[in-house]
Amino acid sequence: MKNKIALNKGLASVCGLFCAACGVYYATQEKDEKKLQEIANKLGQPLSKTYCEGCRSNRKTATCKDCFIIKCAKEKGVAFCGECDTYPCQELKDFQKKMPHRKNIWKSQARIKEIGWEQWLNEMIDYYSCEKCNTINGAYDTECRKCGNSPSNDFVRNDMN
Ligand SMILES: [Zn+2]
Repeated sequence: MKNKIALNKGLASVCGLFCAACGVYYATQEKDEKKLQEIANKLGQPLSKTYCEGCRSNRKTATCKDCFIIKCAKEKGVAFCGECDTYPCQELKDFQKKMPHRKNIWKSQARIKEIGWEQWLNEMIDYYSCEKCNTINGAYDTECRKCGNSPSNDFVRNDMN
């Protein structure tokens, strides 16, 4: 069974993250207000600013709304950081180091260049899906949020240790 989500460039963030594996994103899609409230509390921001439709959308969580990377990419006229003359810049290196779920952005930028963002998204869907029930889980979902299987996906299995 394959996960069927629309291959939408909006799910491929400029920095190389996979938006569908972000709790804010999937909780917004699933209208999971309880999860969104938990995240809002964790991030110390109001619930009203904790909705997101993806990196390239206009409805974004406060933490991503004023993202310096998006601003920078717009100025440089690139869709992904990997296309930039100054890649990998120090700002991106600092950004990457701050959170564990950002571990693979270098690999992702290379794959996007190599195979294109659509195929890369297909790889991400596989990588972040539960092997039992196919739910896309995030880097911080140690157990699948639908069926409880652990680890919840290959990212958690391979990259969160
Ligand atoms: Zn599952």
